[in-house]
Amino acid sequence: MALIVQKFGGSSVRDYERIFHVANIIADTYRKGNDVVVVLSAQGDTTDELIKKAEEINPRPSRREMDMLLSTGEQISIALCAMAVEKLGLPVISLTGWQVNLKTNSDYGSAKIQKLAGERIRAELHRKNIVIVAGFQGINKFGDITTLGRGGSDTTAVALAAALRADLCQIYTDVEGVFTADPRTVPNARKLDEITFDEMLELASLGAQVLQNRSVELAKRYGVQMEVLSSMEPKRGTIVKEVTTGMEKTLISGVAKDDNVASVSLIGLEDVPGVAYKIFSVLAKNRINVDIILQSIGRESTKDITFTVAKKNLERATEILRGKQSVLMFNDMTTNENLSKVSIVGAGMINNPGIASQMFEALYSVGINIHMISTSEMKISVLIDKSEGDIALKAVHDKFFGTRSENL
Ligand code: ADP
Ligand code: ASP
Ligand code: MG
Repeated sequence: MALIVQKFGGSSVRDYERIFHVANIIADTYRKGNDVVVVLSAQGDTTDELIKKAEEINPRPSRREMDMLLSTGEQISIALCAMAVEKLGLPVISLTGWQVNLKTNSDYGSAKIQKLAGERIRAELHRKNIVIVAGFQGINKFGDITTLGRGGSDTTAVALAAALRADLCQIYTDVEGVFTADPRTVPNARKLDEITFDEMLELASLGAQVLQNRSVELAKRYGVQMEVLSSMEPKRGTIVKEVTTGMEKTLISGVAKDDNVASVSLIGLEDVPGVAYKIFSVLAKNRINVDIILQSIGRESTKDITFTVAKKNLERATEILRGKQSVLMFNDMTTNENLSKVSIVGAGMINNPGIASQMFEALYSVGINIHMISTSEMKISVLIDKSEGDIALKAVHDKFFGTRSENL
C-alpha cells in the first residue's frame, strides 16, 4: 500500500464526463489499497473567466479581493469531484486550502507556501477517506485567502506530497508527459521518458507551462519524484527526478518559448560608474524581476541599457523609472511588448561549445533576426519578434530533434 498524490489540471475536470473520468482514476487507485490525496484545479478556463469578470468591475482591484475571487474556481471542482466519488460509493471528503491549513506569506497573487503540517489530511486518511484538496490556494497570517500564481495547483500537489511523505506525486494533464517542445506548437515533439529536476526547472521557468516552475523547485528540495501523465490516455508519462539514467540521454532536453516578455530601453545614460546599480536597485526594491540585460559600449560619454521584464510588470517598471528620471538621467525610454523568448535547455551543453552556433544557424536558416542573447550553464535564450516565435521554436526544435539531428 502506498500514499499517492494525484493532481488533475483544469482541462481534466472541464465538464461532467471528465469529472467522472477523473473520479474513476481516483477510485481505481483507492481500490488497489492505496491512500489517495487528490489536488484539483478550477474547471477548464474558469480562472481566466474570473479574471475577465473582475476586469469588468474594476481594472485595478486589490490583490486581496482578486485572490478571494480566484480561489472560488478550485472550490467548485473539489466539491463536484467529491460528489462524483460519492456516487461511485467510496468515502471521500473535499477540503479547501485553509481547511488543510496551507500557510503562505501575504504576497497575494503569487504567495509562497510557508508551512503545511497536514494533520487534517492524515486524520481523514486514517478514517479511510479519499481526500480532495483545492489547489492553488492557501491562507496567510491574517486568515485571508491567498493564491499561488498561475499553474499553482502543481505546487500544492508537490507541497502535499512532501508534507505527507507520499510515495509518488502524479500530475495528470492534457498531454502525455513532458515533450521536447510544446506538442501543440511543434507536432513532431517527442515525449521524454524522464527528465532531471534541474532541466525541468529551466524548461518550466522558460515558458513550458506543463509544470509550474515552483512545483519543480519544491520537488527537488524535498526529493519528491513526480510523474507527468495524461488523464485521458492510460500510458506511462514522464518521470521528473534528481538523476536520469536513460539510454536516450541527449545534449538538449527541450526547447521552450515564452511570450510573456517585454523589453525596456533607457537611452543616453551617462557613461559613469553606478548607473546600472541605480537602475536595477530601484527595480529590485519594487520587487520587479529583471531577466536579460544588454548594455551598449559607451560612446561620447553616454550609453544605453536594455533589459527584459515579465509583461505584467512592464507598466509598473516604466512608471518607477520615469519617476526617477532626474536621478537616473536618461534621455529617452522605449519599450517593446511584441517579443518572444526562445530557449534551449540541456545539461549536456556546457561541454559542447557548438550548441549556441547550431541554434543561431537554425534561426538564420529561417531568416529570423535575434535582438538579445543570454546564456548560462544549462540554457541559451534568444529574444526575437513575437510574430516569428512559433517559426523559431519549430526551426530550433528541428535542428536538435529533427530526423537528421546529431543531438542523440
Ligand atoms: P493543466 O491544466 O493540466 O495544469 P496546463 O495547460 O497548465 O495543464 O499545462 C499543459 C500544457 O502545457 C499542454 O497542453 C501543452 O500545450 C503545454 N506545454 C508547453 N510546453 C510543454 C512541453 N515541453 N511538454 C508538454 N506540454 C507542454
Ligand atoms: N486555476 C489556476 C490557474 O488557472 C491554478 C492551476 O490551474 O494550477 O492558473
Ligand atoms: Mg497547469
